[in-house]
Amino acid sequence: MIKINDLSKSFRTELIETQALKNIQLHVTEGEFVALTGPSGSGKSTLLNVLGTLESFDGGDYLLDGHSVKGLSDKALSALRNEKIGFIFQGFNLIKDYSLFDNIELPLRYRGFAAAERKRRVEHALEQVGLAARRDYHPSQLSGGQQQRVAIARAIAGQPRILLADEPTGNLDSLMARQVMELLEQINRDGCTILMVTHDPDQARRAGRQVQIIDGHLSDASMYDPLQSGTT
Ligand code: ADP
Ligand code: ADP
Repeated sequence: MIKINDLSKSFRTELIETQALKNIQLHVTEGEFVALTGPSGSGKSTLLNVLGTLESFDGGDYLLDGHSVKGLSDKALSALRNEKIGFIFQGFNLIKDYSLFDNIELPLRYRGFAAAERKRRVEHALEQVGLAARRDYHPSQLSGGQQQRVAIARAIAGQPRILLADEPTGNLDSLMARQVMELLEQINRDGCTILMVTHDPDQARRAGRQVQIIDGHLSDASMYDPLQSGTT
């Protein structure tokens, strides 16, 4: 589903060039739950943004469902993103003057879905995250964990095949973090592929697979075979 080969990405400012991603190899199969860990500034967000086609890259290639994203127009990229990818961020990015229903519905409006289809999707998503009874509440009336569940509902209402989550529990206490993790695990069991940045070792262990980035280099613990270690 995701194939990244020898991918590199630099940021240039007037004074310095930062190589944020260095010759990354990463293959993710449909249905996987991958945890992405690494120190601050190591390139995790940049990799997630490249995977989400929000950020371009310099070298190498990125194939999404067998198709290279290289050279696609902004319009084609945004169509691909809308069709296949959902995003969750550490700060829930909800609109505070909107009800939960309206927050979840907004991206579906942008995408041009008819009212009846929007309603069906929003109601289903609210049920999946356990907030159907609060559809007319506003974000400020919810706990942080509930707000993150709204953000998750907004992402899954688009019926993405891949969910990209950048520290989704980073602002939550441990109980709410666990509930959000359980929800993500349920969404994964329902068939959605998930890549999640996390600083929490317990969460990383619960994911099916852990990959680590250090200083722009990615190492894949799941590909490490002690019997073969002499060859790598
Ligand atoms: P992480 O998510 O692991 O904290 P990032 O992907 O945010 O790391 O950053 C990786 C490196 O790239 C850091 O050195 C960071 O300062 C740099 N970087 C990230 N985004 C930009 C940008 N828009 N412009 C310049 N440098 C950036
Ligand atoms: P995270 O909490 O994931 O580590 P950061 O705080 O490093 O995120 O970065 C937040 C945003 O700022 C990201 O979109 C990243 O691309 C951008 N950014 C990070 N480092 C730099 C930088 N040196 N110059 C410009 N933008 C940056």
